[in-house]
Amino acid sequence: MEFLPIFINIKNERCLVVGGQEKAFEKIELLLKAGSKVTVVASKICKEIAELKASGQISHQDESFSEAVMKGCRLVIVATSNSSLQTEVVNRAKENEIPVNVVDFPDLCTFTMPAIIDRSPLLLAVSTSGNSPTMTRIIRSRLEAMLPLAYGRLSLLVGNFRKSLQSTLQSKQERRYFWNRIFSSPIIEMFLSGKEQEAERILKNEIDTIGQSTQSIGQVCLVGAGPGDPDLLTLRALRLIQNADTIVYDRLVFPKIMEYAREDAELIYVGKKSANHTVPQDQINQKLVDLAKQGKMVVRLKGGDPFIFGRGGEEIEMLMESGIDFQVVPGVTAASGCSTYAGIPLTHRDYAQQCVLVTGHLKEDGTGLNWDSLVQPNQTVVFYMGLSNIKKVSSELIQHGMSPEMLAAIVQKGTTRNQKVFTGTVADLPEIVETNNIKPPALVIVGNVVKLHQKLVSAGFDNQILD
Ligand code: SAH
Repeated sequence: MEFLPIFINIKNERCLVVGGQEKAFEKIELLLKAGSKVTVVASKICKEIAELKASGQISHQDESFSEAVMKGCRLVIVATSNSSLQTEVVNRAKENEIPVNVVDFPDLCTFTMPAIIDRSPLLLAVSTSGNSPTMTRIIRSRLEAMLPLAYGRLSLLVGNFRKSLQSTLQSKQERRYFWNRIFSSPIIEMFLSGKEQEAERILKNEIDTIGQSTQSIGQVCLVGAGPGDPDLLTLRALRLIQNADTIVYDRLVFPKIMEYAREDAELIYVGKKSANHTVPQDQINQKLVDLAKQGKMVVRLKGGDPFIFGRGGEEIEMLMESGIDFQVVPGVTAASGCSTYAGIPLTHRDYAQQCVLVTGHLKEDGTGLNWDSLVQPNQTVVFYMGLSNIKKVSSELIQHGMSPEMLAAIVQKGTTRNQKVFTGTVADLPEIVETNNIKPPALVIVGNVVKLHQKLVSAGFDNQILD
């Protein structure tokens, strides 16, 4: 290890910054955030530093550097490219035994400053010991994405209960066990999804009732898994999948996504094939309630978005009636994912000012859809579950006045490696399905925007699918 990582308390301590331009400003901001009193030595200062000076947040000396200004400082930061000034300040700092950092010159530093992820009071520091600032930046942004913004407030909450837990549970091991249990319980997700007061109340109750057997609290998270490509998961979806005790999932959830689950997670398949409901909806609803009542952190994972032809609404109704805590996480819906990966913008100023999402899952007699509203100029119509009624869809649209020549596309297994895009006219749709033996899941897109498919593809449009 080349450096010892430490966190220094510089509250109300004086720190010196030599240099007055942008790089100096970045460091000054950090020092101020940590509560330091900052003195800046620079003949010229940039606008931002001048503003700090005007508002009395820093003191500024515009004469050249002298050792005297350094006396009593906790840290010195040199943010100038003037090498003789760098050497002078570094030497004086070393003589005075004050840690010194020279921005962008790791060899001159007696301390380095890591990249930080600030979820105060939670702080993460990343450093490659000066070897690769780019790598540090990349790692930092990955960690940023992994840590929800509310983690800072969460650590405050946990900190507030630390003392009272210490008096309740004497042994360190018991306390560790307690926190491990809390951190893998739905209380944390409850907090992160914005129900902070409720989470606090339950946590307090958990501490107050230590040793008594109480019913543990479960949560159901209705999570959209997107149309296929795992890269289209939201950050929250990924986190919940990785934490879940139980995942109840559909046929449309792309198998690769299930690999993100914990090794010991219970995976329950409740897939439905249209017309062949393997598990009836009310049984799924009941299952979710039962699992949550056992105190499990349950993810109900659905293809696309749970609230778009996903029956998410029905599932949360039952959860609400049963008093189960839940949250819903949106996902990329098939219309958005498939059209994008197929190179078909759903709206375009020249071709479509509106876009309608409809289900092709029709009642026996074909009713249930307002066909007139689907036959409108400058409109894109996207049919979900349209395959089994494709003849009806095609003939109804034409009967209600759509030109048989209107362009249409079918995207099969969109956003996956097996994605196929078929284009033709509305009149051709049944034949396209039959000739190519297209099987679900497939999305039907009708409208002039389909013209753009050829244009984009011939221009080399290709969405990389990394499954
Ligand atoms: N909640 C989902 C839709 C469920 S309905 C969502 O928001 O996407 C199921 C229908 O969605 C399928 O019949 C098909 O029309 C469409 N669909 C879902 N995933 C798809 C995919 N990867 N490729 C093509 N169509 C898809």
